[in-house]
Amino acid sequence: MFLAEPLSSGFAHYTGFMRGSLALSAAGAALLVGGYFYAGMWPQSQIFGRTLIAGDDPGEIALTYDDGPNDGHTERLLDILAQHNAQATFFLIGRFARQRPNLVRRIHDAGHTIGNHTWTHPRLIFQPPARIREELSSTNAALEDILSERVRYFRPPYGARRPAVLRIARELGLVPVLWNVMAFDWKPIPAEGLLQRMERGIAHNQRRGRGSNLLLHDGGHSGIGVDRSRTIAATAALLERWRDRARFITVAEMQRPGLRTQGTGLQPSV
Ligand SMILES: [Zn+2]
Repeated sequence: MFLAEPLSSGFAHYTGFMRGSLALSAAGAALLVGGYFYAGMWPQSQIFGRTLIAGDDPGEIALTYDDGPNDGHTERLLDILAQHNAQATFFLIGRFARQRPNLVRRIHDAGHTIGNHTWTHPRLIFQPPARIREELSSTNAALEDILSERVRYFRPPYGARRPAVLRIARELGLVPVLWNVMAFDWKPIPAEGLLQRMERGIAHNQRRGRGSNLLLHDGGHSGIGVDRSRTIAATAALLERWRDRARFITVAEMQRPGLRTQGTGLQPSV
């Protein structure tokens, strides 16, 4: 049949076939790449190793703030948390912590949990193991120098990780922490919009019988001084509206005995 066809048609058929198989292998590659990025980027994916997200108590809310310490905004947030007797978690950038040791101590002295958010905030998924180790160990060293206490938690910037990231973190004694609610506070969304997103995420988790871990920012990785007043206003409103129906806990409190990580139902391994 092929031979009966004019050459041009056969050629067209052949190139069509080639195009088809190219498209198929491109689709296969896209699936593989997509799967890799799901595993490496999706906050609740456990494919590249277990990460701490939230417990199974729908009344628990872990507020987590990344990219600080940040002049003015971190202090204002600490005041608001204190007014509501709420505890939170701060994932600090090492090079900012080194510049603001007193602010780091103030966060710690107020009873909040401090975690490692790398020294320079790179996408660790693209970094060689030596750089990953350097980012984490230099930040641990700076924080431990300021606090005279071991740092136990780590949040990868952008949630980006691969097996080497989680393995190195664990070797350094760090529990990787992700999240299950995003307010998208890095976008220009007014405080009311941030509050809506937070409440929608919490309600969604409550319907599924699980606690919430909210990704928020009191700083910005580009430098100290980023305006986070919308996040802080949304936090104040959330604390006001939820004070009688939720407990605001740190990620350290989520790890008490009996607590399960989501995704695997297994105890976090440290
Ligand atoms: Zn960050």
